[in-house]
Amino acid sequence: MKNDDTNLKQKILAGERVARDEAVRLFSWDLLELGMCADARRGMIWPHDTVGFIVDRIINFTNVCEAACAFCAYHARAGFIEKYDMSVDEILAKTATLVEAGGTQAMLQGGLHPDYTLQRYCGMLRAVRGAFPDIYIHSFSPAETVYLAKKEGLTVRQVIAALKDAGLDSMPGASDILVDRIRRTVSPRKLTKDEWCAVIRELAHFGMKSSATMTYGLGETLEERIEHLDVIRGVQDETGVIRAFIPWSFSPRNTRMDDALPATGMDFLRMVAVARIYLDNVVFLQSGWLTEGLKLAQIALSMGANDMGGVLTEEVVVKATGIATKTNRDELVAIIKDAGKVPVQRDSDYAVIRSFE
Ligand code: SF4
Repeated sequence: MKNDDTNLKQKILAGERVARDEAVRLFSWDLLELGMCADARRGMIWPHDTVGFIVDRIINFTNVCEAACAFCAYHARAGFIEKYDMSVDEILAKTATLVEAGGTQAMLQGGLHPDYTLQRYCGMLRAVRGAFPDIYIHSFSPAETVYLAKKEGLTVRQVIAALKDAGLDSMPGASDILVDRIRRTVSPRKLTKDEWCAVIRELAHFGMKSSATMTYGLGETLEERIEHLDVIRGVQDETGVIRAFIPWSFSPRNTRMDDALPATGMDFLRMVAVARIYLDNVVFLQSGWLTEGLKLAQIALSMGANDMGGVLTEEVVVKATGIATKTNRDELVAIIKDAGKVPVQRDSDYAVIRSFE
């Protein structure tokens, strides 16, 4: 190790905040060394052996989307899934199966549908809230919020106020990559980085929580990966609303970017470790089993990740890229135990519902 890197390692192990240029250097570190440092940081922010998961259900209620992002295989114009809209009754039937399975969280997510009004969004929420008062509704996205605000001539605050009033508990961050150079190329019709930050700040205004994701492998440089993490760290310093960070590698199949090389497993582990070290103010880092597979997700638990996310019954967006990873409660319990950790089923606020010690 060079002198500079020895100093950086000491800094990491002392729990000090890492600068952007230092974080970029971490990508070239030996993977085991990096993983060990990330696990040490995980121990500082989460000094427990438990790893949580949530029993939830994604309900992708429409794939009609004006944004037509180049990296997305899910929206109807990509041509792989026929255009569809779900009725409120269908949404309720899917929520009912979640409840029967002991699930606690519904994630309603759709495209930027030109005909969906704020009233329709609120109608979906009221129906779910009315039929299932105990279900936590972690739904929609900053992109849908900004789209609705523009379409209806409202402020983002007004849209969130209406959604909250109709029953929304929290909103996933769905941040892709918060680097406008990349966004202009792959998702020019979706919201900008500043608009994403504005939604997060407004959620904070209402005392609501969110998350932050990262889709990497979209043509960004390593510096831009850190730029993305830096946006999240900055907005989290300001608001504290981000409960978890979830990195995903880009899955090119069936998208307009299908000539891109898929990210490797090593790349995923490095990304988890670097994110764990950089995001010193976000407690939970999810191991993305859905895109990376269960084995790799298990390894990530010893390199900085401390949550397995959701069981995600009937996810459609990632499945559209040809990825067929599925799991269930028993499998997640076994995987977490085999990693030497204690599995816990948790709720949306990361409180333990049941321990599988
Ligand atoms: S990523 Fe979201 S906003 Fe972009 S095309 Fe797919 S559904 Fe639409």
